Amino acid sequence: MLTRSEIRAALQASGEQQQELFAEARRRRQEHFGRRIVVRGVIEITNVCRVNCDYCPMRRDNVQDNDRFFMSSENIQRCARSIRDAGINVVLLQGGETTRVLSVLRESIPAIREIYDGDVEILLNVGNLTRAQYKNLRELGAVSYIIKHETSDPELFRAIRHEDLEQRLRCMRDLLDLGYRVGTGLISGLPGQSIESIIDDIELAGELGVHMCSVSPFVPAPDTPLSIAPAGSNELALNIIAILRICYPHLLIPSVSALEKTDSGGQSRGLDAGANVLTVNFTGEADRDRYLIYGNKRFVVGLEHARKLADNAGLIMGRSIFIGDGDERMRWE
Ligand code: SF4
Repeated sequence: MLTRSEIRAALQASGEQQQELFAEARRRRQEHFGRRIVVRGVIEITNVCRVNCDYCPMRRDNVQDNDRFFMSSENIQRCARSIRDAGINVVLLQGGETTRVLSVLRESIPAIREIYDGDVEILLNVGNLTRAQYKNLRELGAVSYIIKHETSDPELFRAIRHEDLEQRLRCMRDLLDLGYRVGTGLISGLPGQSIESIIDDIELAGELGVHMCSVSPFVPAPDTPLSIAPAGSNELALNIIAILRICYPHLLIPSVSALEKTDSGGQSRGLDAGANVLTVNFTGEADRDRYLIYGNKRFVVGLEHARKLADNAGLIMGRSIFIGDGDERMRWE
């Protein structure tokens, strides 16, 4: 574990210092995970959301104008079969926050388990729900859940997400308590965010006792109140990835597509900085174009791109580490 002042210095690392930071992060990854990284297949199930985040084109104020979609359970199952056929056994069902997805999830989760004969990690990312709803989804077969804190600064959280941070943290605690493997995450370079607040983010990830943590540089998206704010720096996001890996070596840390959006080659550098997860997009093309995260010009990660990234970093694309002996059975070894 690094001290606050060591974290502060590492956040600003550049040149040779940054290379040393990344090398230490890779060493820690190697110790805990060897050369294996986890590959997820994501299906984006709806672009409708009740929340009004100032950085997101799918925010509530835009819902009426957006070309809205809800995937049917049949479509979700079709995409899940493609994920299985690609040798991936982590199925991420992700969407805007609306309880309207609950019925399709209740139908899809057992159906996906059947497609895989149970050998699947169903990972959800559909926002704040009640404890009873989380419990029901867990009982149906969901294994893990992503619920990012985005920023640990309660005032900034309220200003940008118009919600209560404490409520979000309550959801995380419920999920952990119910036996989910939980992922948090932060956005770096948010307008109004300080370096001290990012250090709080890093420390919060440790305090929460989560299993995964993502880092996304802030991307100003069209049709949002923050559309003309400056983009977050990739260098800062990469340094945070490396610090998280050094402080909490057991974490799954994705190299997110936002790194590629802000800087070509960014995802490859995410792996260099110690990340160990890649997410491949399996949403059907029509819905994918309507899923407006970062606007419709986002970078969409395909299987070939992920393979190249892993190969170039000398890493092996692997399966879920949260179920069975997943990390012992690597398809691409
Ligand atoms: S970031 Fe997530 S919760 Fe916020 S508006 Fe967009 S889809 Fe909804």
